[in-house]
Amino acid sequence: MPMRAIRTARMFDGTRMHGESVVLVEDGRIVDVETSGRELAAGIPVTDLGDSCLLPGLIDTHVHLGFDASADPISAIVAGSDAQILGIMRASAQRSLQAGITTVRDLGDRNFLSLRLRDELRQVTGSGPEILVAGPPITSVGGHCHFLGGAVDGMDALLEAVRERHARGCDVVKIMASGGNITPGSAPYRNQFTREELRLVVLEAHRLGLPVCAHAQGVDSMRDALAAGVDTIEHAFFMTETGVETPEDLLDDLAAAPLTISMSAGLIPGGVAPPPAVARSLSSVFAAMTRLKDHGAAMVIGTDAGVGPNKPHDVLPYAVEQATGLGWDPLGALTMATATAADVCGLRKGRIQPGADADLLAVAGDPLTDLARLRDVRAVYRGGVRVR
Ligand SMILES: [Zn+2]
Repeated sequence: MPMRAIRTARMFDGTRMHGESVVLVEDGRIVDVETSGRELAAGIPVTDLGDSCLLPGLIDTHVHLGFDASADPISAIVAGSDAQILGIMRASAQRSLQAGITTVRDLGDRNFLSLRLRDELRQVTGSGPEILVAGPPITSVGGHCHFLGGAVDGMDALLEAVRERHARGCDVVKIMASGGNITPGSAPYRNQFTREELRLVVLEAHRLGLPVCAHAQGVDSMRDALAAGVDTIEHAFFMTETGVETPEDLLDDLAAAPLTISMSAGLIPGGVAPPPAVARSLSSVFAAMTRLKDHGAAMVIGTDAGVGPNKPHDVLPYAVEQATGLGWDPLGALTMATATAADVCGLRKGRIQPGADADLLAVAGDPLTDLARLRDVRAVYRGGVRVR
C-alpha cells in the first residue's frame, strides 16, 4: 500500500497527548509522526479527520469471542456446532473492530476455534481485529469452564496440555487457578491446582515461549499464581470464603512482582444486572482494584467481554471511562488500554510511533476532557486499512 497521511486536531500516542498531528502510514505500519506543523512532502494523499483525536487502536486483554453476551452464553457454545460457534465469533470480532478495539486476546474458546478465526481473518488485511488465542482454558476435571474441553488431571496431563497449545499455534496459555461464578459447583475462592502444578505449567509454557494467564479470583489462588510466576493474573477478585479481603502483604507482593493484573472492569450502563453473587461483591472488588493501583501494581483492562448482557464485545470503551471512577486519570486509563496492553500482549501496537502497526482509532473531540468521546468513533484503521 502506498504512503498515506492522516491529519487530526489532536493525537494520543499511547502515553501522551499532542496537538495537531499528521501520521504517515505505509504497508500497514506507521512510518512517521509529525506534531510540529511542518508541511508534508507534496504528493502524499492526506485524510483530514478535522476536530478529532487519533489514538492507537484499543486492546482488550481478556475476551471470549465465542460467548455471545446473552443471559446464557454457555448453552450456545456448549451445544452449538463448530460452524455456529464460528458465526458467533465472527460477529463478536466485527463488533469489537467497529468500536475501535483492534486487538482482542481470547482467553477461552471451544475446539480451538479462535485459531481458525485468527487465521481466517489474517487472509485479508482489515477483515477483523488482531486475535491472540489461548484455546480452551486448562482447568481441573469438572472445574471452572470444564465444558470448553480443557479439563486435565495430574502433572503429565498438564504438561501435555501446554505442549498441545504450543503445537497448535496458540499465542498464550490460560489456566484456571481458581473456580469461577459461571460454573455450577465451582467456587471463586477455591483453588483448582496446587502451587507445584501451576509452577510446572509456567515453566513449560515459558520454555516454549508462551506467556501464562492465570484466572485467579480467590486470594489463595492469587498467592499461588504469583509464586508460580504467571505473566498475568486475570480478574484478581481477592475472594475468600466469606467475602473480599485485600491482605497488605499480598498487595505489596503483587506490586513488586513482574506480572500484570488484568482487571475485569467494564459494564454497559443501564443493562441487565449481573448475577446476585457477582453484584454483591462488585463494589468490594472494584475497591480492591483501586488499592492495587495505589500500591503500584501494573494493571490493564481485560473486560471478559461476552460473558453476559452487560459485557458485549464493544464494552472496552466503557471500561476505560469507568476506570476514572476507580482512581485512574483519563490519560492513565487510555494508556492501560493501549501502550500497556500492547506490552503485556507482546505486540508492536498500542503506540503511535514509527514502526508500530497502523491499528488506529479516531474519535470526535478530545477524549481527555470527556472519555465518553471514545464511543463517538470517526474512523478505524486496521493494518493501515480504513474499516470504518
Ligand atoms: Zn474470562
